[in-house]
Amino acid sequence: MSDQPTVFTKIINGEIPCFKIHEDEHTFAFLDINPLSPGHTLLIPKEQVATLDKLSDDAAAAIGRVLPRLCRAIVKATGIADYNILQNNGELAHQAVNHVHFHIIPKPDTKTGLGVGWPSGELNKGTASELAESISSGL
Ligand code: 5GP
Repeated sequence: MSDQPTVFTKIINGEIPCFKIHEDEHTFAFLDINPLSPGHTLLIPKEQVATLDKLSDDAAAAIGRVLPRLCRAIVKATGIADYNILQNNGELAHQAVNHVHFHIIPKPDTKTGLGVGWPSGELNKGTASELAESISSGL
């Protein structure tokens, strides 16, 4: 990926303003500029990598530590108990900013917040075992 700072690195560095919510050694959180609902927040690692599979274990652990705390604070501040976590990787998966980020999106009612399409299929039992082993062996 490019070594050029992403828009999110510029936000971390204070070069682009934001409504900051949280910062620690490895992570940063702020309000999304085009929210799907009130309280729509982005949590990002300071480590600049494009997709989650590239993230270091240390940065991932730091994200994992703060994400539930951030969710609790958003629920408390908005009074909205339901929410979605969205994490897009790659253009086809609707990623616009190539810097790992987690959306926390409150869901106050059926019309507001994240709309989820879920065109599910049926697991192919003939190939599932091989697929599971193939994924497992890559860990
Ligand atoms: P993606 O589609 O990549 O998962 O989502 C990127 C998100 O970043 C979008 O929801 C967009 O509104 C948000 N975003 C992009 N640029 C800025 C910015 O400069 N400031 C803030 N606060 N959010 C941004």
